[in-house]
Amino acid sequence: MYRQEKEGLVTYHFESFDKSLVNHAFYTRKGGVSEGHFSELNLGGTNGDKPEHVRENHLRLFENFGMPFDSRFDVWQVHGDTIHFTDSPRPETQKHQPGDGIFTQNPDVTLIMRFADCVPIMIHDPVKKVVGLLHAGWQGTLIEVGLVAVEAALKEYGSDPATLRVGIGPSICSHCYQIGPEVRARFFKRWGDEAAKFVNETPDGYYLDLWAANEWSLRKVGIQHIEQSHICTAENLHEWYSYRKEKGLTGRFAAAISLTPKGEHG
Ligand SMILES: [Zn+2]
Repeated sequence: MYRQEKEGLVTYHFESFDKSLVNHAFYTRKGGVSEGHFSELNLGGTNGDKPEHVRENHLRLFENFGMPFDSRFDVWQVHGDTIHFTDSPRPETQKHQPGDGIFTQNPDVTLIMRFADCVPIMIHDPVKKVVGLLHAGWQGTLIEVGLVAVEAALKEYGSDPATLRVGIGPSICSHCYQIGPEVRARFFKRWGDEAAKFVNETPDGYYLDLWAANEWSLRKVGIQHIEQSHICTAENLHEWYSYRKEKGLTGRFAAAISLTPKGEHG
């Protein structure tokens, strides 16, 4: 990934995404108006932060992203595998639908999701001109939301998985993400012996490798181009929110993607 800074907002971007075809960014916590645990650019609206601060942060994000605020499409992220294909933004008066994968072919839509340790997965199909954004915590990883989403997108758009560009964004790493025996057991129950590749056993407990597990799921459906950010949220609190490291007292950072190249929205 490469890092950019503009008017106090610090963003990260995948090297492998073609800037002339797609606009995408991960917004760090830098450059917003939220205070305390939420400082600074909290985009989460349900964690106790002041609504006027969250709204101002969204406006700053969209200004930086180069798309209008009312281009946004987002969902109520519920750790499932429901996938939405949208041709239009979500009007502010319309409630979020539950889901953990969103796709569009409309260049006037900005897909946006919120994170604090869970794995963001971005997808760009430069041939069929599609963008997608997924949310995978341990539960989404377990039920392979990446695989489910890509299979659904192949069907919906007729994409060739070999042409897709996929990025796995900042999230909690395998050294920081300890899991209990019950979560470990669920992976072995569902994934069989394969789970051993992603659950590390150490003297102080079990650790789950969300990055490798999601990459494995995506490769199973034929994805070849995958860029890993290798940025751990829990180890970089100066730029990222970490639900685990900050014991729930934290904000949410955002990932945004749109088919309109930056600076080209009229
Ligand atoms: Zn870490």
